Amino acid sequence: SNQKGGVGKTTTAVNLAAALALKGMRVLVIDLDPQGNASTALGVPHQTGTLSSYEVMMGEASIAEAVRPSTEHPNLLCLPATIDLAGAEIDLVNAENPRRILAEALSRYLIQNPQDYVFIDSPPSLGLLTVNALVAATEVMVPIQCEYYALEGVTQLISNIERIKQALNPSLVISSILLTMYDSRTKLSSDVAAEVKNSFPNQTLKAVIPRSVRISEAPSFGQTAIKYDAKNAGSLAYQEAAIELAQRGV
Ligand code: ATP
Ligand code: MG
Repeated sequence: SNQKGGVGKTTTAVNLAAALALKGMRVLVIDLDPQGNASTALGVPHQTGTLSSYEVMMGEASIAEAVRPSTEHPNLLCLPATIDLAGAEIDLVNAENPRRILAEALSRYLIQNPQDYVFIDSPPSLGLLTVNALVAATEVMVPIQCEYYALEGVTQLISNIERIKQALNPSLVISSILLTMYDSRTKLSSDVAAEVKNSFPNQTLKAVIPRSVRISEAPSFGQTAIKYDAKNAGSLAYQEAAIELAQRGV
């Protein structure tokens, strides 16, 4: 999660998921962003009319009914998002416990369909969809782009996460921060990276994701970067980050 747009949330979710699935883990990616970018990157259809996270949020479908295997790996599942999800916040105004809908649907799903990892890709906002993601999760990963303004908004995100922890999900922790779009040619990138590591020494992963054209090309082929070009520096960095996550445990 990060309410700042375009920092690499989706790229991170799908590539870490792909890296772990390649190692034989059972992985579920929940696309909770009406843009449906994670669904696109995993090659899963998400046009209106597809059973999706919207129907799950509205109580009209279970996660089991709506998940689809990624075209890349049979053990990588995706709950797609359609543009209908853009209306969910309004459609849920009268719902009972609107902030716990995903958490409840996910715990029902996991009883029958245990997974090694579940990634929830949240939209660039702190609205009801993101709150549902944070209530359903046990850990938050925050991707931070190595650009100016990178830390702006992170303070607000942290205070929001604290509030959700106190009111709705006591076990929630910000477990990891991932530096993305690092450009080794610029001093700005190394300054931002140093500042983030200094502010979050225990959370910042050692793996840093470089800026890479191959990473940005992959979604247009309905692929993760790892599938599109496994040997690319960006794909290798995501594989390192996945190993770090796995070694940290939960
Ligand atoms: P949003 O807030 O809109 O959901 P996001 O935080 O999910 O965005 P992404 O969609 O993952 O961010 O990335 C934003 C854009 O930057 C995309 O076009 C993506 O392909 C590109 N991108 C992400 N990571 C890299 C990278 N390491 N190198 C180059 N381009 C990247
Ligand atoms: Mg995204």
